[in-house]
Amino acid sequence: MNQIQLRLKELLAKKPNISVAEFMQNVIPFYYANNIAIGKDSDFITAPEVSQLFGEMIAICIINHCINSKIKSFNLIEFGPGRGTLMNDILRTLKQFESTHSLLNKVYMLEGSQKLKKIQQGILKEHKNIIWQNDLEKLMHDISEDSGISNILIANEFFDCLPIRQYIKTKNGISEIVIIDSDKNDSELQLEFSLQHSDYSPGLKMNLGEVYEQNINYDFYCDKICQILDNSTHSLALIIDYGYIERPIKSTLQALKNHKYHSPLEDIGYSDLTALVNFTELSKLFQYKDMKTDLKLQAEFLHEHGIVARMHDLLARTGIDVSDQVERLTDKDQMGALFKVLIVGK
Ligand code: SAH
Repeated sequence: MNQIQLRLKELLAKKPNISVAEFMQNVIPFYYANNIAIGKDSDFITAPEVSQLFGEMIAICIINHCINSKIKSFNLIEFGPGRGTLMNDILRTLKQFESTHSLLNKVYMLEGSQKLKKIQQGILKEHKNIIWQNDLEKLMHDISEDSGISNILIANEFFDCLPIRQYIKTKNGISEIVIIDSDKNDSELQLEFSLQHSDYSPGLKMNLGEVYEQNINYDFYCDKICQILDNSTHSLALIIDYGYIERPIKSTLQALKNHKYHSPLEDIGYSDLTALVNFTELSKLFQYKDMKTDLKLQAEFLHEHGIVARMHDLLARTGIDVSDQVERLTDKDQMGALFKVLIVGK
């Protein structure tokens, strides 16, 4: 057994089962610590890896915000920067707009994986004033010392890594979907989904067989993001991810390995494990904390910021045709509608 299997075996020796959330909380950090994860030769592709135009459009959004809000100085903060491609594209674009680039104070990167941090440091080596942190509290402390500086936070495909608990309506009421080890032998791990009766009430009507997902860390991260935004005026957060507005009735837990769907209970720690983001819940949490929110489909966001004009410009100037990339990012049947952009500000 490998390290993560041993860890799960140990957990399941102490108690009869673990929740899906506990499984994700153990497996996901292990996965990012031991796999490159993102890229054509890895398990999944993210928007910045599809096209440099994605980061360019985020940069245009940042520039517009700086101009409209008359920002004097700002920090860029990224949660879960992956290979560093998005930040690299943003900084490259900002450099072409000197009046905004000159306002950039520091770049803060929240990255839990040492392996990915090294890759990010390589790709971003030409840029100055980048600070890496794997500890959110320390990152918050550093940011809080930059008084009077606006914060612009970006999180692309970060929230889908956050753990969920799952509940299902059965004939006997609500049960939690849990994970058990069906192999009592010490040298093997045989994980299976099982059900455990629960007193949890999702507070809505559920039909037989319907699954309800509880996002147990949204509150924590929303709170931290609000503190970062509250640190100074004219701050902004862009949360981009695949997720839903209307609650699906099935499990959204998924695993990807080599760009193909995979069983979440196989190759544990060596396939990407995620759950769809509940954008309705996330928006509400920010609104409860007195933030303004604006939720858009990724396609809408990219079109509003001029992705098609930039595509034509690139073709005319360099002969490079990125129409396939733009289609992948904006087509409603590809990433255009499943992915959403949640803009949060005061
Ligand atoms: N934003 C990138 C990568 C998304 S993959 C892109 O668009 O390509 C998820 C990223 O979040 C990885 O960098 C992973 O290491 C990081 N991550 C996941 N959970 C984390 C956590 N709890 N704390 C810090 N980083 C985390």
